[in-house]
Amino acid sequence: MEVPWNFRFGIVILGDSAVGKSSLLHRFTEGTFDDSRQSPLGIDFKVYNMHYDPDVVIKLLLWDTAGQERFRSICKSYMRNSVGCILMFDVSQRQTFDRIGSWHREVLDYVKPNPMFFLLVGHKSDLAVGRQVRKNEGEALAKKLNMITYLEVSTKENLNVSEAFETLSRGIYDLF
Ligand code: GDP
Repeated sequence: MEVPWNFRFGIVILGDSAVGKSSLLHRFTEGTFDDSRQSPLGIDFKVYNMHYDPDVVIKLLLWDTAGQERFRSICKSYMRNSVGCILMFDVSQRQTFDRIGSWHREVLDYVKPNPMFFLLVGHKSDLAVGRQVRKNEGEALAKKLNMITYLEVSTKENLNVSEAFETLSRGIYDLF
């Protein structure tokens, strides 16, 4: 029997190639981490029923988008039907953090005038050696761009994975 649901939120996961978008989605929906798995070609889609409280179920429609330029137009059509966005960078690759502002602008330009709620994720927080972005820089950027918040996540060590999706969907639910 189908699970009853009261709300449906589309969420896109964006960020530069190799920051770990597809690993995060896979960990969240399937519960596993596989170092050798391939990113999707183009776009991947998963559904997850989140039990918000005993009588509210939020159905999350999760879109994982490949960073390649040639898929940009497809990704944009999914953005239009989404209300939440996880913007990800890799804490060990400074340039992926520097590109967050441009991802943010691109999404906002495209979805306007619809609202879009953002969560900033500093990914691969398990990489203590080789870190190039400090936690307070992530926090400051999330604040500056009016995002719900900043979270540091490790898919590999399963740290803050479900918290990321919960924080974003609760943020959307509370702000709507
Ligand atoms: P995508 O292109 O953004 O979808 O990135 P992938 O999910 O394909 O991940 C890129 C690489 O980062 C892969 O080699 C993953 O195994 C690795 N990776 C993903 N998540 C983590 C993590 O939490 N910690 C570490 N250290 N590596 C990760």
